Amino acid sequence: MTLAVSANDIDAKALIEELKRWVEIETPTLDAAAVNRLADRVEVLGREAGLETERLPGTLGFGDILALRSPRPAGSNEKTALILAHLDTVHAVGVINDRLQLRQEGDKLYGPGIYDMKSGALMALEAMKLAVRRGTRMPIDLIFVPDEEMGSLSSRAFMEAAAKNAGYTLVVEPARDGGKVVTARKGVAMYDVTVRGRAAHAGARPQDGRSAIRAAARLVLELEALNDTERGVTVTVGTIQGGTGRNTVPAECRLQVDVRVPDDKIATEITGRIEAMRPVDPDITFEIVGQMNRPPFAQSEEGKRLFDAAAEIAAGLGIALEGMATGGGSDGNFTAALGVPTLDGLGADGAGPHTFNEHVFLSSIAPRTALLANLMISLEAR
Ligand SMILES: [Zn+2]
Repeated sequence: MTLAVSANDIDAKALIEELKRWVEIETPTLDAAAVNRLADRVEVLGREAGLETERLPGTLGFGDILALRSPRPAGSNEKTALILAHLDTVHAVGVINDRLQLRQEGDKLYGPGIYDMKSGALMALEAMKLAVRRGTRMPIDLIFVPDEEMGSLSSRAFMEAAAKNAGYTLVVEPARDGGKVVTARKGVAMYDVTVRGRAAHAGARPQDGRSAIRAAARLVLELEALNDTERGVTVTVGTIQGGTGRNTVPAECRLQVDVRVPDDKIATEITGRIEAMRPVDPDITFEIVGQMNRPPFAQSEEGKRLFDAAAEIAAGLGIALEGMATGGGSDGNFTAALGVPTLDGLGADGAGPHTFNEHVFLSSIAPRTALLANLMISLEAR
């Protein structure tokens, strides 16, 4: 197949220089001003490229949402190709001067958020510029959100509204395991559990006490007994905090629980079982607060066809594209759950997301930007 954009059409050198600039603007999710500094830069680049820009002031303490749109007739309600990116990272400000310095080692470029997902966000913008210049069949909306790493609490509704008018969604989260894209993701539920008992002096009046820690320990085992590798269910008690001192029977203990499920049916079953958990001791209470945060993203028939189209373009670029399912959630969960064919993991290849070893493979940037651009050009209304 003849492709409109080849890897040689990508100015990789300029792109990598710009990527360094994005990484130098450190953007932890909870630092709205920092995230907005990067949004400022992205907005300028979007304007310079002749794209329409829409910027929504941040809410809930997060940064702004930025949307770039390809020019289209006023009042057009044509189905769009929706591209999703996030500008926030999990890394604190200052990491770049310390444990994760911006540095190149061979084909690897290290830096906070470089792989998850500043490279993908920048590649999406570059691909959109190229695609719009060459002409697309569908209008393109590229949305940059400020809060993906904390569950997209302030941006979910905006993305879902955009998805309702979308024919397809492409998500530029990092590629993984040798450049694989993501065709399915587990759903994620989050629970905060407070176990309450009764305090008492550990030496003088132990019989009056009801240990919240002991009840919580029993609950941890009950929760983690829901783990089921075969069915793809994971339940992890990630944190535990309780007690006030060595010599006091603890009155309170708190747990944070992460739950991953592959489909809606299992989601209903597992969340139901968790919410129905009760203490054995009548003097103990459980307060279980939480729900599904990201719905499961299972591959649909149309999602499979979108992957096949991407694989065909990739083959033309010399990339043998493979798809995979992952336990990690992304904003693709929201669009897939709305029935929009969604393909994820279209960003750069690399390794070490959320760690001080985070890096991208520079050689993956130009071909995968070309893949994105060709995909944007080829998509047409279903
Ligand atoms: Zn990410």
